[in-house]
Amino acid sequence: GERRPTDLNELADEYLKLAYHGMRAKDPDFEVQLCTEFEGELKPVTVAPQDIGRVLLNLYNNAFYAVREKAGAVRRVGPGEGSAGGAYQPLVSVSTHTEGDSVELRVKDNGTGIPPEIVNKIYQPFFTTKPTGQGTGLGLSLSYDIVTKGHGGEMQVESREGEGTSFVVQLPL
Ligand code: ADP
Ligand code: MG
Repeated sequence: GERRPTDLNELADEYLKLAYHGMRAKDPDFEVQLCTEFEGELKPVTVAPQDIGRVLLNLYNNAFYAVREKAGAVRRVGPGEGSAGGAYQPLVSVSTHTEGDSVELRVKDNGTGIPPEIVNKIYQPFFTTKPTGQGTGLGLSLSYDIVTKGHGGEMQVESREGEGTSFVVQLPL
């Protein structure tokens, strides 16, 4: 895609709304808290906004899926039972900050988390743990290529099974 200096805060916020509304259209009753922490002084980063938009959508959709899954599991177990108890508050948060000569974007959720035995497979094309029709397994593989090969950036994941996941995207300024 075509590159131009882009306000990553604006892009991240725009796509968050898009993903949130998409999720609510499918599951209007699902309540999730959104939290944004955008650095005020963030410099524009030269990217292909549509490509980075796809990365954001993939990360957000995965985060919403993970918190819905966890909420569903909590409901099946019932209040007060199981590790999550009845007080689960689904949360998806997005933040940006400047880190040296890169801009760092973090998408964090308190959803299902990723089991350690599969975390090294999540970037493989067609790897999915979702039921047929709900996941292609291409989102992260494509996102990883867009960030690394496409933009000279980096992408990292930190996850704890049962607790949640953070994806960090670093893009050079
Ligand atoms: P898909 O969403 O179609 O399954 P992805 O490439 O986007 O494909 O993700 C691959 C797999 O990585 C998912 O099926 C899931 O197991 C895991 N995953 C990705 N993001 C998260 C997340 N935020 N929380 C828990 N698991 C995740
Ligand atoms: Mg996905």
